[in-house]
Amino acid sequence: MGRRDESVPVELAGLETRFGALVVHQGLDLEVRRGEALGIVGGSGSGKSVLLSVISLLKAPHAGRLKLFGEEVDMAMSESRLMPLRRRLGVMFQQGALFSSLTVLENVMLPLTEHTRLPALLIEEFARLKIALVGLPREAAQRYPRELSGGMLKRAAVARALALDPELLLLDEPSAGLDPVSAAELDALFNTLRQALGLTLILVTHDLDSLFTVTDRVAYLGQGRVLEVASARDLTESHEPEIARYFGNARA
Ligand code: ADP
Ligand code: MG
Repeated sequence: MGRRDESVPVELAGLETRFGALVVHQGLDLEVRRGEALGIVGGSGSGKSVLLSVISLLKAPHAGRLKLFGEEVDMAMSESRLMPLRRRLGVMFQQGALFSSLTVLENVMLPLTEHTRLPALLIEEFARLKIALVGLPREAAQRYPRELSGGMLKRAAVARALALDPELLLLDEPSAGLDPVSAAELDALFNTLRQALGLTLILVTHDLDSLFTVTDRVAYLGQGRVLEVASARDLTESHEPEIARYFGNARA
């Protein structure tokens, strides 16, 4: 085995993903560099969420190559080899709801309880640290999801995604459903976390403000592949017809 290239946490080449006869990705190439914030945009159903499932090792691709943290991944690999890779990434799913029957603290403790053998007291301390890190007040720990505002719920979901100290954070439309002020505050949090923890971010979003304030590069997903990767500014001015149409509609 050659030396791992840890400077590229995610490398996809010729990815093909299917659900039965439905081809979601075909010939998709993408590289995510360590420490960058990569945006992913594309129309509804273009395969953004499924792409995050592939990267987080929840959905097996039909063909193509996936490298995570420089290691070639095959989902037929044993759980004992997949699990350490999964633990290096945190995911905030599009339907990233917290468990409604658990408090914020219990929600954030869950990944630690499941994946570590730390003593309960330490697990609670680590979880409280994450709750503070995302800017939630101390009292929020004891609250149930239904008692939180939209913006606080998202922060709690981020805290849960950070529970195991991932290097790579995958965010699927995190600001969906938030008012513009709360959305901007959430973007500011992502920037802070990135600076403070040196995280690599993959941010799926339809929000132009998020693209401009958070990301270094943006990949446009269409026709099952990455049609173009560029800065937010350059991509929004792209002459590629589908991309121009996408951003034309986004601005309208
Ligand atoms: P989006 O870009 O809006 O996030 P998705 O990645 O969720 O799109 O979905 C891409 C395509 O895959 C869509 O056509 C969707 O209907 C289909 N799809 C997603 N998940 C499943 C599934 N579990 N079973 C079957 N089809 C799915
Ligand atoms: Mg989606």
